Amino acid sequence: MIPRTLFRPEHEDFRKSFRRFVQEEIVPHHARWEEQQCVDRAIWNRAGELGFLCVTMPEAYGGAGADRLYSVAMMEELARAGASGIGFPLHSDIVANYINNFGNEAQKREWLPRMASGAAVSAIAMTEPGTGSDLQAVKTTAVADGEHYVLNGSKTFITNGLLSDLVVVVAKTGNSGEGAKDTSLLVVEADTPGFTKGKPLKKIGMKAQDTCELFFDNVRVPKANLLGKEGMGFVMLMQELAWERLIIAIYSIAGAEAALQYTVDYTRSRKVFGRPVAAYQNTRFKLAEVKGELAIGRVFVDRCLELVLQKKLGVDDAAAAKFWCSDLMGKVIDECLQLHGGNGYMLEYPIARAYIDCRAQRIYGGTNEIMKELIARTM
Ligand SMILES: Cc1cc2nc3c(=O)[nH]c(=O)nc-3n(C[C@H](O)[C@H](O)[C@H](O)COP(=O)(O)OP(=O)(O)OC[C@H]3O[C@@H](n4cnc5c(N)ncnc54)[C@H](O)[C@@H]3O)c2cc1C
Repeated sequence: MIPRTLFRPEHEDFRKSFRRFVQEEIVPHHARWEEQQCVDRAIWNRAGELGFLCVTMPEAYGGAGADRLYSVAMMEELARAGASGIGFPLHSDIVANYINNFGNEAQKREWLPRMASGAAVSAIAMTEPGTGSDLQAVKTTAVADGEHYVLNGSKTFITNGLLSDLVVVVAKTGNSGEGAKDTSLLVVEADTPGFTKGKPLKKIGMKAQDTCELFFDNVRVPKANLLGKEGMGFVMLMQELAWERLIIAIYSIAGAEAALQYTVDYTRSRKVFGRPVAAYQNTRFKLAEVKGELAIGRVFVDRCLELVLQKKLGVDDAAAAKFWCSDLMGKVIDECLQLHGGNGYMLEYPIARAYIDCRAQRIYGGTNEIMKELIARTM
């Protein structure tokens, strides 16, 4: 195995304490959360209390001022545990970044400490029933009226949607007809009159994740809640998307590595025709291929991470990491499931859950087809 060189002992210590939290306070409840289609709200407060939310945010706003490798360690542990209902990375490593990078001082003081403590759960709402890939075509409007914007429209497939207290909403504040220039980001508090949430959507996987629709009916959002400048929403979204795509690649490799590990364990213990499944050449070759491919993916992702830390990761490389690693995850988990035989089709086995959970990786964060479009544009 090519050794990983990115993480220092302090990252690994942090990883261990987060792993303990996942094993003790998340894993035992996850099946119940899948039934109720939502995690318990209390897990957010508990994570905040233990310092596991918004770790990369500055200390002045409730964070730990940590580098992104601490976040990566948490993502990998969640992926390995199959804790697909936990939306901490979206909250801590996506939404918080928008507020920290583009918010003004008052906005940061208002929202980031609440997010770091777990008092406020956050979401980002881009996708609409009529448009996902084509973000410039969003129909939600925010029309200026005195000191407010009046927000109308609806969003769908929103991760952390049901529990959200703060939502960064992509809306049109202009009508020049040039989608990008008309787009702005508004932070909407969940208790604002006219803002309602749908029931959790019935998904094929990631069942504990409270993905839902959001509706805005003449919601009066203070102008003070505009992030950055009016009409700059698209530019802000583009700046963050490379990192957001790498997050999916990180999850993909870590989740597939976990699948490989429990497939090795399973095939060693399961006997057919008097021999362990692992003893057959087909199994050995399949697992060897998977191990090799994951090692190759891991090295690419770690190199991308180095570039993230240097703020140099390009859109094309992030897109390549996202599509290649999420495709690989799908292929690996499918092969690992096959090696489990009928048990692989049973939800009590982690491989079955990984199989349904991983499908979304190729869709969200920009579909894999859109990733290829982005790469093609750079050539
Ligand atoms: C579990 C889950 C969680 C999600 N969480 C969030 C969230 O928190 N916030 C949020 O805003 N959104 C979220 N999404 C939405 C997700 O980002 C979108 O579903 C995704 O971007 C695709 O958009 P769409 O569903 O509208 O598909 P469409 O845009 O309708 O695409 C349909 C098909 O057409 C293809 N296609 C589209 N354009 C092109 C093109 N130019 N060339 C070739 N093929 C093309 C697509 O690749 C796809 O195969 C989530 C989705 C899921 C499944």
